[in-house]
Amino acid sequence: MAEENIDEIIQEILSEEKKVDEGKEEDLLPSEELYECPVCHHQVSEEAQFCPYCFAVFDENVDYKMLIETLIKKLKFLVPIANQLNVPKENVNLHIKEAKKYAAKEDYPSGYAHLHDAYFYLIKSVVERFSQELEKYEIMMGMNNEIRELYGKASGYLDEWDLENFITVFGQLKEKASELSKDLREYLEKLEEVENALAIARKFGIDTNKASNVVDTAKDIADDKKYSDAIKVLDEALTPIKDEIENAMGSFLTLVKEEVMRATYSGKGSAKKIIRLVREMKIYWDEGNLVKVLEKMDEISKEMSK
Ligand SMILES: [Zn+2]
Repeated sequence: MAEENIDEIIQEILSEEKKVDEGKEEDLLPSEELYECPVCHHQVSEEAQFCPYCFAVFDENVDYKMLIETLIKKLKFLVPIANQLNVPKENVNLHIKEAKKYAAKEDYPSGYAHLHDAYFYLIKSVVERFSQELEKYEIMMGMNNEIRELYGKASGYLDEWDLENFITVFGQLKEKASELSKDLREYLEKLEEVENALAIARKFGIDTNKASNVVDTAKDIADDKKYSDAIKVLDEALTPIKDEIENAMGSFLTLVKEEVMRATYSGKGSAKKIIRLVREMKIYWDEGNLVKVLEKMDEISKEMSK
């Protein structure tokens, strides 16, 4: 909770800076009463001449020329984003053209009205599109704290129509999410590999109980979404039955040797293939990759029963 409050406070400070940038700091002191903007429903100062979010005008004495300049700046930032998101442009270009015409005639209120329409339409569309994008990541919130935190921040920035900060945080969120889904994929692949290896081990009469216990531990860790830790545990799943595998491999290789000699003697081509597989198995054994050792034993045994 405390952290959330800090985020809120930072957010408030940042939005104050934005207002300072817009040159209206005297209208928006934090001590003032707030009320809801009737156009965009953000909380704004009671004494504000215009809404700092949607730029709706509350006081006709506002400096329209300044508002036009501000809106142009905002649109310059917004239009490329809208393009990227394939937001339909509707009448945006027309409004900008009209605004220029009125501004040239020094009819700033009419110029402002067109720019405001263009801006309000675009910002609403972009925020809506980003909300949909963000929602896709809601499902990943349970995966880890960092994701949850970034999601909360991103959605806060979006509520404030603070696109600059939203884009930064959303980028971090997407990166984190793809890292996590990579870990999840890797974990599932590894789990399948290890479980397959254990099935092979059982075919060779190896007692796999100790290894299965390790796999269960890895599954528990994965249930807590700690996939990279679970992968590390799986990497060592076969270590407790290394001696058993070695024994089984020893007696199996005796059989293999007999078969190879017999095959060579009768001129069968399979001897060559078996020898190649044994060589590969040896490399994995030297590396300590017990999963691959078992896979190779399985391959050799299949080759021999052909
Ligand atoms: Zn507003």
